[in-house]
Amino acid sequence: MRLLLLGPPGSGKGTQAQLLAARQGAVHISTGDMLRAAQAAGTPLGLQAKKYMDAGKLVPDDLVSDTVAEKFRCERPATFLMDGYPRTIVQAEAFDTLLAELKLPLEAAVLIDVPDEEIAHRITGRLTCSNCKATFHKTNRPPKVEGRCDVCGHSPLIQRPDDTLAVIEQRLKTYHSQTAELVGYYRARGLLRTVDGKGDVEAIYRQIVSALG
Ligand code: AMP
Repeated sequence: MRLLLLGPPGSGKGTQAQLLAARQGAVHISTGDMLRAAQAAGTPLGLQAKKYMDAGKLVPDDLVSDTVAEKFRCERPATFLMDGYPRTIVQAEAFDTLLAELKLPLEAAVLIDVPDEEIAHRITGRLTCSNCKATFHKTNRPPKVEGRCDVCGHSPLIQRPDDTLAVIEQRLKTYHSQTAELVGYYRARGLLRTVDGKGDVEAIYRQIVSALG
């Protein structure tokens, strides 16, 4: 399985990538997680990325593409699930070049389609495990024990600093102005599959698996 997940922030890319990775064995690559880890470690990449992330804007293409290329060249994952990369046409072109160099052709780009109206509710209620990154929702998918992750044990759940209403409005704007055009990019290459991202996590998972044939 070599695929990438497209969709607005809060469409469930991370949740579906975690399920696909656990059940199908592909490597889950989240550029958001990589950038947050770089920030936590205080690396130059993390320090540069912080101001863009806090404002709901995209980190410059070359920084993100270089980070992804380094990971691929080191780890050469035979199968992968991209979650949050590419996010611009420039990144998509850089990724195509990288995959051609490594002889790892992309099999599909799956768009998880969710209307904007639903995004704000999802994101402002989202809780993320500080340890394993599993996500929950205050009302739609509460953890068994309040404030604690029931996937990896009892690590504290946190609200990401960019999961606030003010930042989500900017993140949606960024998505529509810079990322949504990737739908046409992958459609033109015959790689686009679209699933309805409203509803139950397991139902969306089944749609993705059947869309991949
Ligand atoms: P995510 O966890 O995928 O929602 O990403 C959180 C934030 O990290 C985004 O709002 C961007 O600021 C930054 N980010 C993640 N992936 C990328 C990317 N491919 N290109 C640019 N910025 C990114």
